[in-house]
Parts: sequence; C-alpha cells; structure tokens
Amino acid sequence: MSEHRDVWVFSENYDLMLELLTAGNPLAADRSSKLVAVLIGSEIEEKAHELLKYGADKVLVADYPKLKDFQIEKYLGILTSLTKKNKPEILLIGSTKNGKELASRLATRLETGCTPDCSTITIDERGQLLTKRIVYSGNAVVTATYLKKPQIATIPHRAFEKLEPREREGEITKVEVTVEEPQVELVGTNRMEVANVRIEDARIVVCGGRGIEKKEDFKPLQELAQLLGGQTSNTRPLAEDRKWFTGWVGLSGKKIKPTVYIGCGISGMIQHIAGMRDSQVVVAVNKDPEAAIFEVADYIIVGNLYEIVPAIVEALKKALKN
Ligand SMILES: Cc1cc2nc3c(=O)[nH]c(=O)nc-3n(C[C@H](O)[C@H](O)[C@H](O)COP(=O)(O)OP(=O)(O)OC[C@H]3O[C@@H](n4cnc5c(N)ncnc54)[C@H](O)[C@@H]3O)c2cc1C
Repeated sequence: MSEHRDVWVFSENYDLMLELLTAGNPLAADRSSKLVAVLIGSEIEEKAHELLKYGADKVLVADYPKLKDFQIEKYLGILTSLTKKNKPEILLIGSTKNGKELASRLATRLETGCTPDCSTITIDERGQLLTKRIVYSGNAVVTATYLKKPQIATIPHRAFEKLEPREREGEITKVEVTVEEPQVELVGTNRMEVANVRIEDARIVVCGGRGIEKKEDFKPLQELAQLLGGQTSNTRPLAEDRKWFTGWVGLSGKKIKPTVYIGCGISGMIQHIAGMRDSQVVVAVNKDPEAAIFEVADYIIVGNLYEIVPAIVEALKKALKN
C-alpha cells in the first residue's frame, strides 16, 4: 500500500483556497482520507479557523512575519518540506500565476507529475487522480492520470464554488518551518487599479468586441453594466491591437463564469468562447445573423449594437424608475 495519503489544498489567494476545498472534498471522501488545507502567511490564525468551516478536516499553518507576502522561494521551500514529510496523495493548487509557477516547481522538486488548469478532477477505478483540461483553443480535452505521487493539479478560479460555511470540528496544527532565503529581493509591490470586483467574480459581464469602432463608443456598454450591477470586459483585439484595455476574456485571458454574459459586436471565435462558455445565460448582439457567437447564445439580438445597446439602457432606466 502507498505511504501517501490525504488530499491537500493550497493557494496564496484565500478565496481560491475556499474553492479548492470544494474541489478536494469529494476526492477526500472517495479516498477515505482527510482534506488538509495548507495555510501560509502572517497573522492568519483566524483564517485557519474559517477554513474548517469551509470543509477542511485539518489545517497546517505556517505563520511567520516573513511570510506576509507571497514569494516563490519561501512558499516553495515550505511546501516542499511539508509534502516530503507528510506525503499527501493529492495536492490541489490554485491556478493563479504564482500558483502555477509554484506547482510546476514543486512537482520538479518532488519528481512527480503536475497537470495545470484542470476543469474536472475525479478518482478513477484504480484510485488514481484523473484530470481533464481544455486545450487547443477549446477544441480538445486532455485526460491525464499520474505515474507518481503526490499527484499535483492546478485548479482555476471559479471552476468550483465555495461551500456555505458551517460550524465543523477540525484540527489546526502550527508547523515549524525553515523559511528559505529568496534569490531575489522584493523591492516593492504596486496594487493594480481594478474597478469594483475582479472580472472573474462579476455576476454580470457586458463584453465588447471589434464591432465597437471607437473607445468612447464603449460608454453605453459601461452604462448597461452599471445599471445591472455588473462589469465590462472585452475581446483580445481591443486590448492587444487597439490598446484600449489591459485585459480580456478568453483562452489567453480571463476565464469568467457570470450568471449573465452580454456580448456586443463579438464574432464568437473559439479563443474568446473558451473564456466565457461557462456563463449561465448568454446574450449576444451582432449585426451578422450568421455570427458564431449565436451558437452559444441563449438570447440572440441581430442588429446594430449602436442602436440596440442604448435602447436596452433606456428601457432598463425606465423599468428601474417604475
Ligand atoms: C493564440 C491566440 C489566442 C487568442 N486568445 C484570445 C482570447 O483569449 N480572447 C479573445 O477574445 N480573443 C483571442 N484571440 C483572438 C481571436 O482569435 C479573435 O480574433 C477575437 O476573439 C475576435 O474578436 P472580436 O469578436 O472582437 O472581433 P471580430 O472577430 O472582428 O468580430 C467583430 C464582430 O462584430 C460584429 N459587428 C461589427 N459591427 C457591429 C455593429 N455595429 N453591431 C453589431 N455587431 C457588429 C461583426 O459582425 C463581427 O461578428 C486569440 C487568438 C490567438 C491566435
């Protein structure tokens, strides 16, 4: 029998950590093992208690002032020593930029496998972790399993919803670790200015595409988003080619999962669809009745967005007044 046991989750992003607990829960149940959260940071005791409420059976806490901010060498060193000592069977890591770097470097140190950005994770009939991830612009799905343990997978934001918190019994263990000295010095961090909430967390997203001719024509979309309590985003060409924005939705951008997605002047190329296909309700406005986006839309509006979006805004304003 393998000496590896338990399902571990880690993310330097606390919200994502809560989602990883949801992802790890059925795996731990399937393997009749514990769901363990690894919490690294400074002054994090309160969070440790909260993690139990969100499904962790046990929380390993590395709480040192030096660990306040994420630094790859420090966090990698801690995860390496903890996994070598405790031998988890499965390790789920949040698919942030930092998380993916951490996961791949950890897998190299442990001489094991790592699958990034998994959309589905299950246990197969042999008790092995089976992961699925979308590749080739959403045209294919790779199913992977592991030859070694721990089996490491990274999970993107919003692939799983966090559970409702409830009072649960659990174990909190403070771990003594040696914090590796990093090879680079962190000179400073500047927070990026983001409007309201992150696009991945927005419940309503109004997305604009190349059908919008000038940057100022984006205003009605912003107004629509504001009225609905949502956020705006865009396709890649508006950021990469026209330089109007810094981010975008899609395969190479953000993956979103809103309740409502409204796409205006977007053709529906697979690279964009890959980032919004999990939206619950899709509304698409396009003047081309053959636009590919209509294939994934629940509500289709064929017409000129320059007339349709302001008309929706006006109608909404009227409805909200009454
Ligand atoms: C490796 C790679 C990765 C990529 N990753 C991404 C990604 O992550 N996200 C992404 O978005 N793209 C990505 N792309 C680009 C992608 O292939 C498409 O080029 C892009 O999504 C098209 O953007 P669009 O729909 O805004 O523009 P277009 O394809 O030009 O579509 C514009 C649409 O607007 C409609 N339209 C025009 N005027 C109006 C009007 N007045 N009223 C209504 N409709 C109108 C047109 O009918 C058309 O359908 C990637 C490409 C590559 C090669």
